[in-house]
Amino acid sequence: MSNAAISARRNEAIARGVGMTTQVYVERARNAELWDAEGRRYIDFAAGIAVVNTGHLHPRVVAAVSGQLERFSHTCHQVVPYEHYVALAERLNELVPGNFAKKSVFVTTGAEAVENAVKIARAATGRSAIIAFSGGFHGRTFMTMSLTGKVAPYKTAFGSMMGEIYHAPFPVPLHGITVDASFQALDRIFKADVDPSRVAAIIVEPVQGEGGFYEAPREFMTRLREICDRHGIVLIADEIQTGFARTGKMFAMEHHAVAADLTTMAKGLAGGFPLSAVVGRAEIMDAPGPGGLGGTFGGNPIGIAAAHAVLDVIEDENLCERAETLGARLKQRFAGLAEQVPQIAEVRGPGFMNAVEFNLPRSATPNPDFANNVRLKALERGVILLTCGVYGNVIRFLAPLTIEEGVFAEALDAIEGALLDASSEVRS
Ligand code: PMP
Repeated sequence: MSNAAISARRNEAIARGVGMTTQVYVERARNAELWDAEGRRYIDFAAGIAVVNTGHLHPRVVAAVSGQLERFSHTCHQVVPYEHYVALAERLNELVPGNFAKKSVFVTTGAEAVENAVKIARAATGRSAIIAFSGGFHGRTFMTMSLTGKVAPYKTAFGSMMGEIYHAPFPVPLHGITVDASFQALDRIFKADVDPSRVAAIIVEPVQGEGGFYEAPREFMTRLREICDRHGIVLIADEIQTGFARTGKMFAMEHHAVAADLTTMAKGLAGGFPLSAVVGRAEIMDAPGPGGLGGTFGGNPIGIAAAHAVLDVIEDENLCERAETLGARLKQRFAGLAEQVPQIAEVRGPGFMNAVEFNLPRSATPNPDFANNVRLKALERGVILLTCGVYGNVIRFLAPLTIEEGVFAEALDAIEGALLDASSEVRS
């Protein structure tokens, strides 16, 4: 069946609120490549939005999942528990940055992890206000949508947001927002809106994902930690997009001098199976009473089995190092194009969490049309790219960290071609 025919059915059958960036209906996928309903091959630089960091169907993930399917698929851990759930918690408690005793809880989606982190912080502090950052993305449920710092399309038409949520500007020097400016705004929130003694948590992405791949400066994170310590506020690192070797470290907070109290993770945790977690300081994690956390599918045994395999692969295949190598090559290649493509404002990102931001040539005005055109031209050349950014003027690169050398080189050529095409189209 053709992509167009399935698309026509999709338009009839699926609510339009579920956005769609391509009409490539996938048939099968392997590592960094996928094939669509018409047999066309693509290189996947989206990886299911930073999920299959270990590639599509890594043989060790497949083996772990198949093995689990031969034993049991679901009992609900709250009813009949299983050992590998406990073992995964033990592994994550070790791996997550922070030199203190930790505990974990497993849920199903990224948004659900953030919801639970907020509940835990509220229970631990007896306070209710939460501070998040403009440009941040934390999910689509009511609490997480309210925390998200971007209105369209996430908050449009959905009525009033949850109370006691305040947004401070995230420091983006490229956009003229310095670390100092960010803290001045935070201080204004404490003076004008809410006393810090009423704030349960500050939630921050160590590298903003949907917001545009902006890395939190080290000084910013250190000062946030100081504010949290001074006022008894829980610091939550949302590592849902940054986690699992993407930034060149298992967790992006390893790039910082300070640790968060709670860390949320999802996406890359289980290599494509729906599993998420909150991991953090044992005494904070234990604040909610028995029955206060959990869910029917939370910590599903198949996802847990997959996650163990993902962690093994990251370790055994040195994927943190690989992220550094791939990212360095990509950044060098595209930074070298800035002369020929004057729309390139910046090429950035730690490890292999990379992005290119586009402005109108030699100006500070965001250029979302150009970003979208590059994305479409790359798609024509067989590479799936995603945009991001509050202005939609950023292309992000999220290929699996296991991508083969030849496929990576081919993708860089195709993306370079797309950039040059898009730029020459504007000139002609
Ligand atoms: N937090 C961050 C940083 C994310 O990038 C995302 C997903 N893009 C979420 C939360 C929400 O995750 P999910 O879509 O699994 O609910």
